[in-house]
Amino acid sequence: MQTNFSLAQLADPHVAESEKILRKCVHCGFCTATCPTYVTLGNELDSPRGRIYLIKDMLENGRPADKEIVTHIDRCLSCLACMTTCPSGVNYMHLVDHARAHIEETYKRPLPDRLTRAMLAFVLPYPARFRAALKLAKLGRPFAGLFEKVPALKPLGAMLKLAPASIPAASPMASPGIHAGQGARKIGRVAILTGCAQSVLDPSINDTTIALLTRLGVEVVVPEGEGCCGALVHHMGREDAALASARRNVDAWMRAIDQGGLDAIVITASGCGTTIKDYGFMLRLDPAYAEKAARVSALAKDVTEYLASLDLPEPVRTPGTIVAYHSACSMQHGQKITRQPKELLAKAGFVVREPREGHLCCGSAGTYNILQSGISAQLRDRKVRNIEATGAEIVATGNIGCITQIASAAKMPVVHTVKLLDWAYGGPRPQGVREDRTVVAAE
Ligand code: SF4
Ligand code: SF4
Repeated sequence: MQTNFSLAQLADPHVAESEKILRKCVHCGFCTATCPTYVTLGNELDSPRGRIYLIKDMLENGRPADKEIVTHIDRCLSCLACMTTCPSGVNYMHLVDHARAHIEETYKRPLPDRLTRAMLAFVLPYPARFRAALKLAKLGRPFAGLFEKVPALKPLGAMLKLAPASIPAASPMASPGIHAGQGARKIGRVAILTGCAQSVLDPSINDTTIALLTRLGVEVVVPEGEGCCGALVHHMGREDAALASARRNVDAWMRAIDQGGLDAIVITASGCGTTIKDYGFMLRLDPAYAEKAARVSALAKDVTEYLASLDLPEPVRTPGTIVAYHSACSMQHGQKITRQPKELLAKAGFVVREPREGHLCCGSAGTYNILQSGISAQLRDRKVRNIEATGAEIVATGNIGCITQIASAAKMPVVHTVKLLDWAYGGPRPQGVREDRTVVAAE
């Protein structure tokens, strides 16, 4: 695509980066076929190609964002299916991240929208605040339907509907410290991201990961000082807050590296994994952090990616359960991890089925199911129909957002992939999963 930026505009490294991306797009439109919002709404401006044109026009003319561009960029899930499809290697992720930051700087949203976004940014990245908010949400839950009828309160209604009926207790395993590997042979040393929302909604995901890894002989460090990866605010265009989270985590993991080395930084929420693998890019212009951030990004591994790199023993039991594997967008499009989770599940004795339209987002997408609840619900229902058509007994996936979203409509249990793997390798049976077919290996 031809671009017309002035030399003065290109002196801004963010504009220069976006110009490089824009020039790669050849307008072919292949990406439209796999874009969930284009498939759902049928509007070119809600396709990747349409959004790329809107962003180009805004940046080239040095214009502040307007209502039209905000509408169509807000509808983008950042699912990155377009990046998987694009034959020209257009980095839509970095382009839309830049556009969101530009929107945040130049556009004044209506007051209810500003308040909702400020509240999400204030609460979600902080486990103590999120836990308190979920307790309050229990009281407001009966009014969710009522709030959803008032346009300005729709996000609040969506939030209340998503809030779980019970909130698990915080896990002591998430406190900073070291979990020693079991057995005579230590096969690795990793840090684990405790994160934010997941540690409140389902702390047992990380507990299970620590239990499985230590049973296999891996030492797991929970570093002091780590926190939210920054993805939630990053996707709202709040760059300063996102970069502050990134720097804090880089510092925490560099200390862990200095104190005994790390083979990997294990992440159990693929949404966070995509962002942490991008820290090197996000902090590239900060001389104090660029090199350290690139090192951290190179060490970041989804838990299935790390497990697949180990020489795993034979499973203790072969469950034989039929599992529908839902690949989160951040897993398959953001991190290009497609093979490992399914291969690990099959090796552990599960029968893995893949739902149709597996490339389409379930509509969770961070805060999307709160801010764009209508489109999100359509995508969720489409996803659940495809999952149920597999005839599977359980859904496995590697992202807490997808777990919450799919579980809000599916009749079968939705569990994190690592819980099924832990079960097969000697851990407890995940909640909601039947024992029936389990064959326990002879001692
Ligand atoms: S990130 Fe997803 S929703 Fe956004 S343009 Fe690309 S395919 Fe469409
Ligand atoms: S597939 Fe790639 S090159 Fe083609 S229109 Fe979409 S972003 Fe542009």
